[in-house]
Amino acid sequence: MCDTEMELSGETMTKKIVFIAGHMRGGSTLLSMLLGQQKGFFAAGELNRIWDGGFTNNELCTCGKPFKSCDFWNAVVENAFGGWDGVDAQEMQDLSKIVYPATKFPLLTVPSLRSTEYQEKVNRILDIWEKLYLAIFKISNSTVIVDSTKVSMYGILLTQIPNIDLYALHLNRHSCGVAYSKRKKRELPEVHWREEYMTTHSIVHSAYKWMMRNLSASSLKFSTPRYLHLRYETLAQRPKATISQLAEFIGETPPDLSFFNGNDKIVIKESHMFGGNPMRFQYHEKQIRLDDEWRIAMPLHQKASTFFLTWPLLLAYGYRGFP
Ligand SMILES: [Zn+2]
Repeated sequence: MCDTEMELSGETMTKKIVFIAGHMRGGSTLLSMLLGQQKGFFAAGELNRIWDGGFTNNELCTCGKPFKSCDFWNAVVENAFGGWDGVDAQEMQDLSKIVYPATKFPLLTVPSLRSTEYQEKVNRILDIWEKLYLAIFKISNSTVIVDSTKVSMYGILLTQIPNIDLYALHLNRHSCGVAYSKRKKRELPEVHWREEYMTTHSIVHSAYKWMMRNLSASSLKFSTPRYLHLRYETLAQRPKATISQLAEFIGETPPDLSFFNGNDKIVIKESHMFGGNPMRFQYHEKQIRLDDEWRIAMPLHQKASTFFLTWPLLLAYGYRGFP
């Protein structure tokens, strides 16, 4: 393991990863973009996806260039691994299936249960991740990386990189909003060589996944003392106040809110996010508004099914009553 202290402007800074946990179509790209506008923050996107989407498939970075043609990611890979051939992306994809599927939760949280063979695989992943994240800190000249991977098992393992403080933001959105969104057909702009769409899901599948992903995200509070639960609806309705509160939670104060124009308009700068909602490709001025189209457009039987399949956790997260 290499030295993980970093000098920025002559000062030794603590390095932090803000890990967004939760489910798809839940607002994590919006949250990531907002956090990433602040000075000293870098929104990296969904870093669990760079091995297949980036290294293997060469999907688009948000700067508009394919991953392997992006100057930023070229510099990161050069710094971390000495070039594109310095790391085996297929090995990382294979290791991810062995080391952190949901079934490995006990081994991820209780290291004493691990076999020697499993521990060696964990060490291998952590070693590569450490090199990758340290290179991102360095090339982006930031002290906070925002990672919107969302997969909680990934986040639990990420807490085990030494000398990096992990802040877990558990983001959720009303289950009906998620289920409605997951039935919509949306194009994937990062797949630039053919027409491809986001996978759509049935109501039952979305409700089940919403429950499992949220329960799993809640478990992060046992892996890091720096855990916070946040609702997408709060973020979208009060973005400026929410980002200010989050900056305080992360210990980056005073918050840099200079990118806000008023309370709900933002000016987005060019970024190098990898993975996330297609909205990440939209630059310039952006009006933030709550996406609650589902309240009107979602058929009643779908709304009722989703609600009754997920109501215990809806109540636990403060969503009151049938919508
Ligand atoms: Zn880029």
